[in-house]
Amino acid sequence: MPDDPRVALVTGSSRGIGAGIVRALAADGIRCVVNYVADGDGRNRADAEALAAETGAALVCECDVADHDAVGRMMRSIVEALGGLDIVVANAGILRDRTLRKMTADDFRRVIDVNLGGTFNVVQHATTLLRPGGRIVTIGSVAGFQGFFGQGNYAASKAGIVALTKVAAREFARQGTTVNCVAPGFIATEILADMPADVTEKFRASIPLGRLGAIDDVVNAVTFLCSPRSGYVTGQVIHVNGGFAM
Ligand code: NAP
Repeated sequence: MPDDPRVALVTGSSRGIGAGIVRALAADGIRCVVNYVADGDGRNRADAEALAAETGAALVCECDVADHDAVGRMMRSIVEALGGLDIVVANAGILRDRTLRKMTADDFRRVIDVNLGGTFNVVQHATTLLRPGGRIVTIGSVAGFQGFFGQGNYAASKAGIVALTKVAAREFARQGTTVNCVAPGFIATEILADMPADVTEKFRASIPLGRLGAIDDVVNAVTFLCSPRSGYVTGQVIHVNGGFAM
């Protein structure tokens, strides 16, 4: 593929869907920044560095997306090192499922802080740092529309991301930047690893296309929204769920 002069930041990209997005954008010649959050045993850093080596990513940045100031420092350092920033994919996300009766205030706040707060942090810093004509893609979830049992925190965070995406689409339009959301259904990544097998099977059986999604199913929607082919698409949600919710 010809080199693309654009620079892309994908948050939470040491593994899962984020890593898939980096692989695809890098294959299109876009200079990518891999973001990871530090963990106790250093696995995330090792994964992020391995992905960067595999894809030729331009930078690897440690940053907790829930930390507003740290996100600003990371994004400014990208602009300084690579000369600009054109694409932001706000992908980092966590689950802390509990029924509302059992959910602690900390369970609620942390999921809101990482998923919705983290998306706000990168989008807000993008208002001053993104070059005109840029692309912002947020990652929602079918949970934000369906409100699954035990996901009061996660579903609320993902519903909030849709509203934030629409506001950002209006506010960024004057600089020619599009802002859209991809809302995956059930995608086979580690985030589903804790789901009991019988629950996963129950969901699979109710998906019209008859299978869980693959990482590339989500990646294809994200790369479309990052490409020139989507220049007249903004403020939208692309659902990638095999028909589970229509
Ligand atoms: P994943 O495999 O758990 O990957 C999520 C990534 O985000 C991990 O690398 C994780 O690092 C990182 N992360 C977590 N907290 C972070 C923080 N504070 N700062 C920076 N990075 C952080 O999950 P995934 O399935 O790829 O999910 C990616 C996105 O898709 C998430 O927003 C998720 O909600 C959304 N989604 C997934 C599905 C699905 O079925 N898989 C469905 C709908 C939506 P750690 O290793 O530290 O956790």
